[in-house]
Amino acid sequence: MTWKSVPKTELHLHLEGAAPPEFIRMIAAEKGTDLSRIFHADGSYKWKDFAEFLKIYEAACSVLKTPDDYRRLLEAVLEVSADNGVVYTEIFLAPDFCGGGDLDAWKDYLAAFEIGADNAKAKHGIEARFISTCVRHFGPEKAIHTANITANAPSPRMVGFGMGGEERDFTAQDFVSAFAVAAEAGLGITSHAGEICGADSVRETLDHLPVSRIGHGVRAVEDPELVKRLAEEEILLEVNPGSNVCIGVFPSWEKHPLDHLRQQGVPVCVSTDDPPYFHITMTSDYENIAKTWGWSETDFADTNRTAMKYAFCDEETRAAVLAKFQ
Ligand SMILES: [Zn+2]
Repeated sequence: MTWKSVPKTELHLHLEGAAPPEFIRMIAAEKGTDLSRIFHADGSYKWKDFAEFLKIYEAACSVLKTPDDYRRLLEAVLEVSADNGVVYTEIFLAPDFCGGGDLDAWKDYLAAFEIGADNAKAKHGIEARFISTCVRHFGPEKAIHTANITANAPSPRMVGFGMGGEERDFTAQDFVSAFAVAAEAGLGITSHAGEICGADSVRETLDHLPVSRIGHGVRAVEDPELVKRLAEEEILLEVNPGSNVCIGVFPSWEKHPLDHLRQQGVPVCVSTDDPPYFHITMTSDYENIAKTWGWSETDFADTNRTAMKYAFCDEETRAAVLAKFQ
């Protein structure tokens, strides 16, 4: 049984974090930048601890500059996704990194992203949608600015607004205004919580932000009442088990709460976050899930249907993708 060709959805993938190492090497070579220090001899990203991970992530991103660099990156990322069976994906894009928070610059990047997604769809059949993200540790004022830029640059595939970055900085309440702007613009809402910080960060996010989904959220497992609340309020957790195990949020696949949360009735889906940095793919995550908890094709189809219920796309796309999981 190979899990590679099984159809998949992915709702939690950071564009820069999904950059294939060979793509970054190609762009670096074109620009005459030596990045050999960030790669192992086998070509994969080289890092030992989280601090070093952030450093090499930044170094890899430093060669990405123009809208066309980002278009090519998106196409390279979608090619890997499609190769791993992904038929529908939502990708986090950051206006802070694409045009430095300038509205007109952001529109140029967004136009390039639409072309890249068109090309990937024509080549591989993959449906892509975008989620604009603010960066938590840049603070609430910048987040409002990012939400305004996103609201003022509508684009066919821009369907959501989210927040990533350092979970320990600020509180969810500090970002109420930013998320109100995004919700008012009709965007789907998600936010990272419960990855680095514990159950309280998930509860706080539910209390203050208009989310239908939470990025990670897995540390909610530390509080059974909160797990019950997630099930009752039907909040989807965008679970990234391979990422969590690699970073050490949980010490092993056996200790990861994905299967437990699902059994408790919490809506869950499976994504890879920053896959090449964690030396994982959607295929390897499916393999590990099947090996650890015995999930069958039916279990995965069920999880993918759940994901599509919460996808931020239009109803026509949702129905077309759902048909692949019947
Ligand atoms: Zn993430």
